[in-house]
Order: sequence, then C-alpha cells, then structure tokens
Amino acid sequence: MMVSKLRSKAKEASEWVSSKAGIEAQEEATRQSAEVLKRLREEQRVAPKALLARITILIAVLLFSMGASYRTPNFTIQTQSPQLAEEFGKSAEKHRHDLAVLWLGHALPQWNQPCPVTVRVGPGLGAGGATTFVFNKGEVFGWRMTIQGSRLRVLDSVLPHEITHMILASHFRQPLPRWADEGAANSVEDKTERDKRRKMLLQYLTSGRGIAFNRMFAMTEYPADIMPLHAQGLALCEFLVQQGGRRGFVKYLEDGLETDKWVAATKDHYGYRNLGELQNDWVAWVGNGFPGSKPAGSGTAAVRGDGLRTAGGQVVVSGYG
Ligand SMILES: [Zn+2]
Repeated sequence: MMVSKLRSKAKEASEWVSSKAGIEAQEEATRQSAEVLKRLREEQRVAPKALLARITILIAVLLFSMGASYRTPNFTIQTQSPQLAEEFGKSAEKHRHDLAVLWLGHALPQWNQPCPVTVRVGPGLGAGGATTFVFNKGEVFGWRMTIQGSRLRVLDSVLPHEITHMILASHFRQPLPRWADEGAANSVEDKTERDKRRKMLLQYLTSGRGIAFNRMFAMTEYPADIMPLHAQGLALCEFLVQQGGRRGFVKYLEDGLETDKWVAATKDHYGYRNLGELQNDWVAWVGNGFPGSKPAGSGTAAVRGDGLRTAGGQVVVSGYG
C-alpha cells in the first residue's frame, strides 16, 4: 500500500512540476523533476526509518551549504545571507497575500507546513525556478520551491510567478490546463520579463512554433517545446483578463474545470462561439501589438494583424515582423 501510494505520488509530482520560462529555468525544472522522481523512487525501496535519517542529513547539508535560513508562517527561505533570506521571506509573504487577493478576492489561510524555498542569487543568473507539489484526494501538499536570479528579478518576477502557481493550486486543488497556469503566473512578473515573452511570442508565431488553441486547451502535460506554451499562455491570459478581469479569469477556469467543457465555458464567459473564434481574435490582438483596450468583435478586418492568419486549426503566421 505504501509503495503504490508513493508511486502515485511520484506520478503526480512528475506531472506537476511548474516551471518558469528561460532555457536555464527549463533545464532546472527538468533537473528538479528528475530529482523529485528519483527521490520518490528511492522512497519506495527504503525503509521509513532509514529514509527519515537520510532526509534529515540531506536537509542539514542543504541548510549548511545555503548559508542562511529565514522562517515565516508559510515559507522557509534558504539562501546565501541572512539579510537576503529575511528580505525574500517577507516578500514571499506579501506576494502570497496580495496575489491571493488579486486572483481570488481574499487572502488564503496559512498552509499546514511552510514551503521550503531555496534561492540562488547572483547578477549573472537567469531568472527562473520550479515549484513542486502533490495533489492527492483534493488536497495539495509537499511544497518545495527552488529558484534563482538577480535579487531584483527574484523579488519582482520569480517569487510572484511561483507563488501564483501555489495560490492557484491551493484554490483549485487539482491541476489546471498548463497554458492557464503558466499564463497566470507569467502575467504577474515584472514588465521587463513580460515584454521579453511578447517578443518571443512573435518569433514563435512566425516560425511555425505556435500551438493551435484546440490543442493547447487539451494539454495536461508540458509539450517538448515548452517556451511557446509560456508565451502563448501569457498572451492569452492577458487578453482574457483585459476582457473580464483576473477574478473573472479564475471563475472561467472554475467553470471549465468543473464541466471540462472549455468551449461552453469560453462562450459563457467571453462570448466566443468556439476556440477557433477566440484564437482568431487573439491572433489579431497580438498582430496589432497587444492593444490595451478590449478588442473589437471577432473576425473584423480592422483588427486583423498584418500578415497574421490562422488556417486549418493551426496558428499560422506569415510575413509578420
Ligand atoms: Zn511557472
């Protein structure tokens, strides 16, 4: 029983490693995922007492090697210096409160266990990270976050990104469609990071790496080519948030998850008759340089991006940029 439980935990953990974009972050997430899996596989073979001893040693080594630790009600930060640990800890709690209010309209109750957060800080480190957690029988637990970046990017992008994943996981207690989860998390990053993704989105859409919405909505796993999912997820989240706000976006996800009828939920919440129509309007919005106001009705020539078009269910973009 123990083994099968752990096996299902391993499976869920492998399915639910959330990662932030950036090649480095991607590699980190993959490594994290492999580590989690390896650890869980090992757990299946090791007796509980021996396992506990090993974990205790592992944590002691980790704490020692990371220099300093700072504990808040919901996070235990491990990083190079006590000052940074305290700064990240306070920032994480503030993000947790503010982002929960932003997405859900209310603060979250405290988690049963604080989430261990390991932060590598350095001016040359690419911003990114991964958070792992486990869903089981409507509960979410086993938080672990490993992140890196410059001090500023950790504070204004990486922490809010990863904490948004945690807030949504705490709210929904089940996996979200990948595009929506990453889209929401990317949408709370600093503008410099969001602008980078927008630029990359145009590159993806003009080089055949776009993902058709009917395929993207059905994705419960990360695709092998993960970066376009991040960029499209962000731009679609921003597009929908423009039309119905962040709390409206969460309500849309609630509906979609409950019914698993995304076409109907999209129609009810945003008025699009199908995902193709949503995709067409979104492509036009992207092509027009992400205008700030609510886009005009579907399919009008005025809102079509120059050279941007869709065909055969696949996002195809030609002659743009
Ligand atoms: Zn993410």
